[in-house]
Amino acid sequence: MRNTVEEIKQETLDEEQYWQAVLTRNVLADGTFVVAVRTTGIYCRPSCPARHPYREHVTFFRLPEEASAAGFRPCRRCHPDQVQLHEPQAELIERIKLIWMLHCILLISASSFI
Ligand SMILES: [Zn+2]
Repeated sequence: MRNTVEEIKQETLDEEQYWQAVLTRNVLADGTFVVAVRTTGIYCRPSCPARHPYREHVTFFRLPEEASAAGFRPCRRCHPDQVQLHEPQAELIERIKLIWMLHCILLISASSFI
């Protein structure tokens, strides 16, 4: 089945946005797609700290399973197959818990000097 012109335009636009997310190592894009490198056979999350591949060697997949099905292996550095969708609220709650725990530890250690 052939794509319509609009679908092709949309795909091109998406890929350009994906590539920009890869170039900027945008953590907010993690979980929304993976970037596979044809020369290495490995796929990564957008924020992978590894050196950027050449644009012409890159293929994008929406799901890690699609990249695996196409014969790519997950990167051992960024573990793109273990990425959860970005959940700002969950992250915020985890940070608040950590800050609260540190606060309590400081209070306890400070009160032991009194
Ligand atoms: Zn990686």
